[in-house]
Amino acid sequence: MMRNQKFMPAIKHLLVISIAINAGLVLKLLHDNNGHEWATNGMNEVRVAKDVFHGVQNLSRATDQYINLDHGDPTMYEVYWKQMGDRTTLVLSGWQSISYFSDTKNHCWFLEPSFANAVTRLHNLVGNAQTRSYHIVVGTGSTQLFQAALYALCPSNAPEPMSIVSAAPFYSSYPLIIDCLKSGLYKWKGDASKFNKGEPYIELVTSPNNPDGSIRQAVVNGSGGILVHDLAYYWPQYTPISFQADHDIMLFTVSKSTGHAGIRIGWALVKDKEVAKKMTKFIEISSIGVSKDSQLRAAKILDVIADTYEHTEKFDKVKPFFHYGNNEMARRWKQLRSAVNKGQTFSLPDFPVEKCNFSGQRFGTQPAFAWLKCEKAVNDCESFLRKHKILTRSGTQFGSSKRYVRISLISHKEEYDEFIQRLSLLSSMDTP
Ligand code: PMP
Repeated sequence: MMRNQKFMPAIKHLLVISIAINAGLVLKLLHDNNGHEWATNGMNEVRVAKDVFHGVQNLSRATDQYINLDHGDPTMYEVYWKQMGDRTTLVLSGWQSISYFSDTKNHCWFLEPSFANAVTRLHNLVGNAQTRSYHIVVGTGSTQLFQAALYALCPSNAPEPMSIVSAAPFYSSYPLIIDCLKSGLYKWKGDASKFNKGEPYIELVTSPNNPDGSIRQAVVNGSGGILVHDLAYYWPQYTPISFQADHDIMLFTVSKSTGHAGIRIGWALVKDKEVAKKMTKFIEISSIGVSKDSQLRAAKILDVIADTYEHTEKFDKVKPFFHYGNNEMARRWKQLRSAVNKGQTFSLPDFPVEKCNFSGQRFGTQPAFAWLKCEKAVNDCESFLRKHKILTRSGTQFGSSKRYVRISLISHKEEYDEFIQRLSLLSSMDTP
């Protein structure tokens, strides 16, 4: 009896820990959907995940919560936009956004003129991409535009589907999106550096790259190739703006430029009018255009960012947007490198320092993701970190090795700070 009583608190404690771990695992399962960037698939899942999450929070005195840095959810930016108060508030009445059409004179008939103007204004301010003589196509995120580009570029009468490649490590959603509908137009052929250049192909060039932050150019160099440049991260908070990009097709998104992933707005700058028209056709067929409300919100936000530079008098004590983002990314990378440098368990890539033509500052790329390598005895980095309740995405999903993981650096500050504490501890313990 005495002995049993003695064990009771210990058993209770174990139970609490076990419930917390299982709840965390359920959370991980709900969030794990084959490497997609987005979090869950339906409202029910979101609700359940929230309940489970609150359960974990309540138990957090007994054991730590899971930190989910698997997705690139840009919640880091919430703080900035909160302090902007009503400057980005948009009131829309019931009579607005009724029509399918936005601008019937434009080949992209669902493009809101104010959004097109805001996009041009921001690129001209930042100097990251040419806009003159380009056609703008708006999409439901750059995810839709990427598919529209493939539709536009692949001949409909080719005997074989067109090969699509990207240098490894590549953005994990590319193969999922490309093979999802088993299209007769195109198929995923994996790592561009291993591709046989004899046949026609499309190479996806992501720069700075997701997941490893590298600045990239096409690697295949074959004669039958078409390039699509995914420039989601070519903004001055992440990397020095060293040239004005003028590629044939360039994809951008508010998800990573302003942090508004939930608005679901991206845009393409397209040189060739016929390609732009075919991309427009794809969006017409797949979703009959793009939310006007979202375009108007995006336009407002892009304009406010430009205003923080061009009308500084209106923004007393508020840092201009990209300067804020750049400082925050610099701070987070500093914390991360210092945690990693506490031991030999992990390593990170280095980035060359360059001058940014936009800010005039010199700095190295400070990507939205860390491409962390586990050294020595840890050969499955994702499982190792999961055991320590840090959820990341395994290198295997990016066409690379399980020694690597991708970690989001753009989550809420509290979550990121907690991650840094755990990583510092793991790092200083030196190998399990
Ligand atoms: N391309 C890259 C390289 C990305 O990282 C992402 C988002 N993670 C996207 C495209 C998709 O962006 P969106 O939210 O606009 O669909």
